[in-house]
Amino acid sequence: MIKSRRRNYQLGGSKALTYPSDVAVGEEATVAGNRLLIIDPRGEIDENDLMEFMESYVEPTFWKWWRQKEASKRASVQGVIKPMQAGIPTAEEAQPVEMRDVSRGPQVYLINCWRCGGQIAWRLELGPRGGCPYCGAWLQLTV
Ligand SMILES: [Zn+2]
Repeated sequence: MIKSRRRNYQLGGSKALTYPSDVAVGEEATVAGNRLLIIDPRGEIDENDLMEFMESYVEPTFWKWWRQKEASKRASVQGVIKPMQAGIPTAEEAQPVEMRDVSRGPQVYLINCWRCGGQIAWRLELGPRGGCPYCGAWLQLTV
């Protein structure tokens, strides 16, 4: 398996990129796709087979996975309280600050989905079973 980031060159009226040097290539390559491309650099796999595989498996699976990954990235940075003992206050922060009482919200456990890894604030009042809001996997809370 290789991975690489490569420059798209202008070549006549088309764009072109070069293969990494350790890829075995044939006289022709076959390619299929739209937003994503799948390429057989040896040209041994028929372009119709590449397209069928791309449409059936790669495109639908990839975008589902991608959305879940993005959702769990966003969820893991939201709503995290900053503890007061974190760090020594700077001169500006050492001035008297206003502190007010806030009333307690519902009791919550922070858990991660077993399937997509998304962080979920689990409200105990809603019971021990539920579906992941990102991927729909069923979860049972054990305390
Ligand atoms: Zn999930």
